Amino acid sequence: MLQNVAIVLVRPKRAENVGAAVRAAVNMGIGEIWLVGDELPDKATMLRVATHHAGHLVEKMKLSPSLATCLAPFSWVVGTSARKGRQRHSLARPRRMVTEILPKMAHNRVALVFGPEDSGLTNDDLRLCNMVTSIPTADFSSLNLAQAVAIISYELFYGVVESRSAEIKPTAKLACSEELEWMYGHIEEALKSMGHLKETDYPYWMHNIRHFFGRIGVRAREAKFIRGFCSQLISITGEKKK
Ligand code: SAH
Repeated sequence: MLQNVAIVLVRPKRAENVGAAVRAAVNMGIGEIWLVGDELPDKATMLRVATHHAGHLVEKMKLSPSLATCLAPFSWVVGTSARKGRQRHSLARPRRMVTEILPKMAHNRVALVFGPEDSGLTNDDLRLCNMVTSIPTADFSSLNLAQAVAIISYELFYGVVESRSAEIKPTAKLACSEELEWMYGHIEEALKSMGHLKETDYPYWMHNIRHFFGRIGVRAREAKFIRGFCSQLISITGEKKK
């Protein structure tokens, strides 16, 4: 099941942390790492820290210019955050997060997203996530990036190992992030075509709509249906305005 899981490191600053994160991912059976940014960190440093056991994953690490582009093929996205209370998502404990994603992993690609060492994930990054998880700590909540990757990957690995004997009913194939972004684009266009809201209200409405659909999980054909519905609405409101 872990073959459907990828670690995504957003704009990491230090090659050492990336190397250590890759090593932790390999320790826990995760075989795909994406890096969001303009260029890959210093390869020699990453290889040294990752050790030869994880060198292959450094070699095949993929680079993406933006988080949205990187997430396009994934159907379930988990953000990670040290922060308490500054974002609008509610924070799930890692074990609850694992319980939630285990049934999804059979038929869906899952991304675990980690932020940069200094600032963490932005609200725009978190908007692309279905859920956000936070590792419980004492007062000082900010872990080193690679240590956070290790803990989250461990929880997932352990969840998979433990679940072998348990009954897990796999979730059906969900829409991927790209299909969802098309759907949200159509919904926003439909809202605007109705002309009832003030320009400044759209972010609020879109945040809630994203949150709702993100939480329940939308299948590809449902996303297509909603887009079709919005297109109809847009053409009807367009006709009325003529
Ligand atoms: N100062 C930043 C911390 C960045 S640490 C902040 O306030 O968010 C780098 C990354 O490690 C974070 O973006 C997150 O992905 C992960 N991380 C660090 N501590 C974490 C915690 N307690 N729970 C979950 N993820 C954590």
